Amino acid sequence: MKIIVIGAGVFGASAAWHLAREGAEVVLVDRADQGRATAAGAGIVSPWGSKLDDPPSYALLEGGARYYATLVSALAEAGETDLGFARPGALYVPDDPAELDAAEARIRARAGNAPEVGTIERLTPAEARALFPPLREDLAGLYVSGGARVNGRLLAAGLRRAAVRLGAREVEGSAELVMSGARVSGVRVGEETIAADAVVATAGAWAPKLLAPAGVRLAVQPQRGQIVHFRLPGTDTSRWPTIQPINAYYMLAFDDSRVVVGASREFGSGFDYRLTAAGVAGVLNAGLHTAPGLAAWTIEEIRIGFRPLADDNRPMLGRAPGMENLLIGNGLGASGLTMGPYAGMLLAHLALGRTPELDLTPYDPGRGS
Ligand SMILES: Cc1cc2nc3c(=O)[nH]c(=O)nc-3n(C[C@H](O)[C@H](O)[C@H](O)COP(=O)(O)OP(=O)(O)OC[C@H]3O[C@@H](n4cnc5c(N)ncnc54)[C@H](O)[C@@H]3O)c2cc1C
Repeated sequence: MKIIVIGAGVFGASAAWHLAREGAEVVLVDRADQGRATAAGAGIVSPWGSKLDDPPSYALLEGGARYYATLVSALAEAGETDLGFARPGALYVPDDPAELDAAEARIRARAGNAPEVGTIERLTPAEARALFPPLREDLAGLYVSGGARVNGRLLAAGLRRAAVRLGAREVEGSAELVMSGARVSGVRVGEETIAADAVVATAGAWAPKLLAPAGVRLAVQPQRGQIVHFRLPGTDTSRWPTIQPINAYYMLAFDDSRVVVGASREFGSGFDYRLTAAGVAGVLNAGLHTAPGLAAWTIEEIRIGFRPLADDNRPMLGRAPGMENLLIGNGLGASGLTMGPYAGMLLAHLALGRTPELDLTPYDPGRGS
């Protein structure tokens, strides 16, 4: 079976790798748009304290966090170990102690179904700072040992390389759907027309334009996020936990003396690829309010990404309305690095005519259209 995947962010890269593992002939087309979400995403994988109250969205989040253990070991077997993945734990440090109580209640309630949560422990301010030294001195915390983080760029690159080793072909360029009546017969990329049995559209925030010629009106729009990377060479940040939630903001550390503070959530931004004074100020103020110890660090870079946000904020996975061989994966919003590998696996199974382990009915991409 020949399947074309359009879009090689975390969603499409995962779908491509899972398809290739199942023996499909895969072509992965990507345009490397400025602001693609996977290249800008922070990488927190720790959903259990989320205030999200939509059960289908939470099911995908929880499944996504759980799937990481399987994913990381399968990719290691495939020779891909450099994913920036680690499980340093998650530290909740809201200003308001009532928020901490509420987060603890949510996490404990969800931990029954999710052993990967690990241990849950209250920390004094001194204990919290021992784990994340730049923190403010008065912040007590809640530590959850199963909290993880991943580097979206490394993860997507690893999935792509693993898919290519299994025979997937990568094509750089902008794909357009080629229709044949009510079916998709393939895609056109520049001068080349590529035929396929099925097409998987994982084109992130750009998908509505891609899908319009197929008569699909996808209720998705870009939500800009501005995210700041701090560095202090010589600081061993490799075991620092993720810091969350700080209002809408959060922090995480990577191995290279780097702390990432994110992120603005700008509705109605369109594809306006710009840093703005308010966006950057919001991130810096929130970051320094919670972790004043970052004040003397270097601002290494500031990234911009467009989250693919569904109008009802629920992910989309399934067939395009009325079209057997056009599949859509989208709407991962602010949590796509958590959900993407798992969602890609589910979509790959659907494309291959298998029954995915999660009932995909609630994620119908045609809802509301
Ligand atoms: C600032 C920020 C912080 C985030 N932090 C986190 C976090 O901490 N934890 C978490 O779980 N998630 C986080 N996310 C969310 C996560 O990054 C996204 O949900 C996820 O990366 C979406 O992946 P995607 O593959 O659907 O889309 P994308 O990564 O945007 O990929 C879509 C791809 O499709 C390509 N494309 C589009 N149209 C075409 C076409 N016609 N032809 C060829 N190629 C095409 C694009 O060029 C792009 O490469 C964050 C996002 C942002 C922006």
